[in-house]
Amino acid sequence: MSAIRPTNLLATVRHLGLPRRTFVYLFLLNLLGAGLDLLGVVLLLPILEIIQAGGGSAIDKLQGQHWTILRNLSAQIGIPISLGLLLFISFTFVLARQFIRYFAVRYAETVQRNMANSIRARIFSRFLRAETVSQDAASVGSVVSILQSDLRRALDVLLSITQSVSLFAQIIAYFFGLFLLSPIMCLVCAVLMLLVMLASGGQFREIRKRGGAMTNVNQTLATFTIGRLRRARLIRLSGTEKAEAIEFRKITGDLADQELQQKMLATRVQFMIEPGVIAAAYLLFFLGAQMLGLSLERLGLFAILLIKILPPLRTSLAQYGRIVGMLPSLERVNGFLHKITKAAESKGGPLQFKRLDSEIRFRDVSYSYKSGNEPALENVSIEIPAYRLTALVGPSGAGKSTLIDLLPRLRDATAGQIEFDGVPIQQFSTESLRHAIAFVPQSPEMFDIPVEDHIRYGKENATDEEVRRAAQLAGALDFIERLPQGFKTPLGDGGSRLSGGQRQRLDIARALVRSAPILILDEPTSAVDPEAEADFRDVMIGLRASRKFTIIVIAHRLSTIVDADQIVVLNEGRIVEHGTHAQLMRSGGWYGVAHGRLFGVQSRE
Ligand code: ADP
Repeated sequence: MSAIRPTNLLATVRHLGLPRRTFVYLFLLNLLGAGLDLLGVVLLLPILEIIQAGGGSAIDKLQGQHWTILRNLSAQIGIPISLGLLLFISFTFVLARQFIRYFAVRYAETVQRNMANSIRARIFSRFLRAETVSQDAASVGSVVSILQSDLRRALDVLLSITQSVSLFAQIIAYFFGLFLLSPIMCLVCAVLMLLVMLASGGQFREIRKRGGAMTNVNQTLATFTIGRLRRARLIRLSGTEKAEAIEFRKITGDLADQELQQKMLATRVQFMIEPGVIAAAYLLFFLGAQMLGLSLERLGLFAILLIKILPPLRTSLAQYGRIVGMLPSLERVNGFLHKITKAAESKGGPLQFKRLDSEIRFRDVSYSYKSGNEPALENVSIEIPAYRLTALVGPSGAGKSTLIDLLPRLRDATAGQIEFDGVPIQQFSTESLRHAIAFVPQSPEMFDIPVEDHIRYGKENATDEEVRRAAQLAGALDFIERLPQGFKTPLGDGGSRLSGGQRQRLDIARALVRSAPILILDEPTSAVDPEAEADFRDVMIGLRASRKFTIIVIAHRLSTIVDADQIVVLNEGRIVEHGTHAQLMRSGGWYGVAHGRLFGVQSRE
């Protein structure tokens, strides 16, 4: 993505979903409002002239183009010109202007809110739908800082842009009034204003640079905070609270510095602009009075118009400062949205995957991570029979998780083919595949919700009976019933009220409630006591005996999988052996050695 410059800003904003017609409506509404205001102000000229002439019959003697127009209009509507009439009309214009402005503000506000909502929702949902590779690449800290601080600042830019469009319409209308009064003065005024803007150019560049620095510090802060909050236990155990707190203060101090400097720069620009604009106005006034010999009424009107033009001019310059200062954030939001939109994962093919009848087959499957040197999987060919229990074992880093990720298409094989009952994986819709695969991760993820709601996370509309049955099948019913509020007991943050083994069984219930034909379990490596380990094994045996599911277990404890129908041993991305426990023990390979080391028996079985 190329950097956003003020020149291609509108194109970017359109890309983010703010259509051109919104700007046109806003501009026209404000132009109409300012036009009505202008008419009200211009009417002050004949009003002042009437007052100057003393009113009554003197009105008929007043001369000028505007009087010809007024007399024509008065003849057409049949009401004689009087001071009261002109004052009344002028006031009506003011009222109409207020009305139009109200609608303009309401319109701008509605557009901004809708836009903010839509961008937020798009970023969130597209991130969830992006390929795993792109999700891996984005750190949680950077996504959070984009969704929070950058998005807020980017929306501020949009707000400033819509306000600038309104201000621009007002400035144009008042300039037109100035032009009617005196074209030369209008021209001189425009040149002077331009000079003031050019003089502030350097400051704007500086503001933009600071904006970029602030975006970076915001990201550092988000990454740091999330990382440390997640590992609060480790910090306490390592006794590094003080060092972490000092580092945190340093980053927040940096952020405060950057914020202060940007604010001061913006204020400085405002302080510089104000006298510049006022000096220009005085100069104009002087020119009008001394050199062009304008009448007092015209000069008065000129002064009123100048006074009207000043606030929108000053505000629009300040808005410009805000816009350039926050552009880096808009750039990041836009760039991120662009990237994750491009990385949308495939919806898959036209077939609906319903159930597995005979087998899942891997044919020469390889997978390489972008950042990895060695392939994580290399020429893997294996058959996983339906309604059986297949265990994947092997040392850490062997490629077990990568292999599992390929089944629900969280990743796509870089070479080779995966087939379900002989049909290539790409032909099934990704949604139907994921629906058919229930996954229990190594450390279950839990929100602080009641037990039954966690189980229903697997199937939203599951009945109480289904929830109960799933809990029973997962061996979780007994402990759930012993909880203070049974199925209604809140889990605590991350399931903190439960033991490691209980969390695992509850999560298996969540996976089972969906009755998905394929069940993948990543066995917990730690935080599980021997009793829980035995429970896990019992659950496994129960599930296998039901012959309802095709079960794949990533096993870290060899003891839990001796009953598996098939054990597949992976090492450095390759399948080194496979067979039943008895066969593998006989062959004397990695499995036999590892099992022997663990249980003190030699591979003799
Ligand atoms: P296992 O589950 O058997 O421990 P993994 O499938 O997690 O093994 O990892 C297989 C290999 O791929 C390892 O060498 C690991 O370092 C690498 N790997 C895993 N995840 C990533 C990733 N997101 N980016 C780069 N390399 C990865």
